[in-house]
Amino acid sequence: KREEVPASVHGIDPQLVDRRAFEVVRTLKEAGYQAYIVGGAVRDLLLGLKPKDFDVATDATPEEVKALFRRAFIIGKRFRIVHVVFGRGREHDVVEVSTFRAYLDNSAAEQVAGNERTSKAQLAGMQHAVDASGRVLRDNVWGPQEEDAARRDFTVNAMYYDPETQVVVDYHKGIQDAHKRVLRMIGDPASRYREDPVRIIRAVRFAAKLSHLGFTLDPKTARPLVECEPLLRDVPQSRLFDEMLKLLQTGHALATIEQLKKLGLEKGIYPLLDIVVERAGDPLVHAALADTDRRVSEGKAVAPSFLLACVLWQDVESGWQRRLEEGEHAFPALQGAIDEVFERRIGDVSGRGKLAADMREIWVMQPRFDKRSGNTPYSMVAHIRFRAGFDFFRLRADIGDVADGLVEWWQEFYVTDDARRQDLLAQVR
Ligand code: ATP
Ligand code: MG
Repeated sequence: KREEVPASVHGIDPQLVDRRAFEVVRTLKEAGYQAYIVGGAVRDLLLGLKPKDFDVATDATPEEVKALFRRAFIIGKRFRIVHVVFGRGREHDVVEVSTFRAYLDNSAAEQVAGNERTSKAQLAGMQHAVDASGRVLRDNVWGPQEEDAARRDFTVNAMYYDPETQVVVDYHKGIQDAHKRVLRMIGDPASRYREDPVRIIRAVRFAAKLSHLGFTLDPKTARPLVECEPLLRDVPQSRLFDEMLKLLQTGHALATIEQLKKLGLEKGIYPLLDIVVERAGDPLVHAALADTDRRVSEGKAVAPSFLLACVLWQDVESGWQRRLEEGEHAFPALQGAIDEVFERRIGDVSGRGKLAADMREIWVMQPRFDKRSGNTPYSMVAHIRFRAGFDFFRLRADIGDVADGLVEWWQEFYVTDDARRQDLLAQVR
């Protein structure tokens, strides 16, 4: 079952391995533990992609890992892992180290949670999480590497790479599936979706991310997706919101929309995502999705506030218009429309204060781009969020939603000196 695949077969270029991750593996191995690069990084290396981050898996417990590094922090309650930190400030790097977990299916997890029936062997594997729910217990029961592989989602996400020996350890024919370009859920797909419905969203995400390489979901993995989709109702809204952002902000937003439609999941994952899919053909939303994908591919930062501001702009506009017709003044009408949109569309995703504030600023700036007189242009370009508001305005211009020449005027006003700014203001007087 356990296959050790040498470099001559898998062909991973060791040069692509992050040197910090290499260092972490070496330190752990020198201390007598097993350690490997694991998960998405191995998949990406195998496919010749640049991994976003490098995770390490080991048989050392979090405390044992922490003891080996100068700056290491145990984080997470539901899933305790260690962050090993290198460097400082903006340049700092984090390698995530997780301890091999046991694979407990739903019934085994319930047993562990129901104390009397918990076996000695299970208790021995459990560390520091005995007071919490079955879920927390399940995620923190240590086990052998083989079980750690079995609890992962896709076969291509369940491989281990030792950068020293350059051997890939593969329990589930991940290498073969990578060659065949298939995304296959380990075990019985429907049971795995029941265990953790977020895997439904992950299936979409990886299908989208890897579609340009010719990957498709294995039919048996794809088939139960639709019938299992209602299980997502039991997942906390905040986790769904985060997963939605991963779908939209990791460089494959347009491919994701395509996959959602192809798989029959265009509705019902998360209300805001339904709207994104519905509106993906609208010029502004399409432009925003394409722009997000392009920015990610260029290594630039993307903000969820920007994309969501684009998606919900038509609601703001129509609410604003209605309030103006009802006789409200322009500014309170806009604020009122925005409040309404937050209430209707964003709802109870708490802890999103910053996101909402950023969206509001982008929206409130829009009508002010029509005011090219007095102090407005100066205060606009001095605004710390001017870039975001202007990028939004520019996208509106790209789709013909803004009068000709306005964007160019603002662009010049933004970058030029004071004398020229006076000229520009005189031009429009
Ligand atoms: P990405 O490159 O997008 O980060 P990834 O494969 O690294 O993709 P992560 O969410 O970072 O994905 O998770 C790391 C690894 O943990 C996965 O490769 C997989 O093996 C495992 N994993 C993560 N979430 C789940 C889950 N819900 N069910 C089973 N295994 C999971
Ligand atoms: Mg990852």
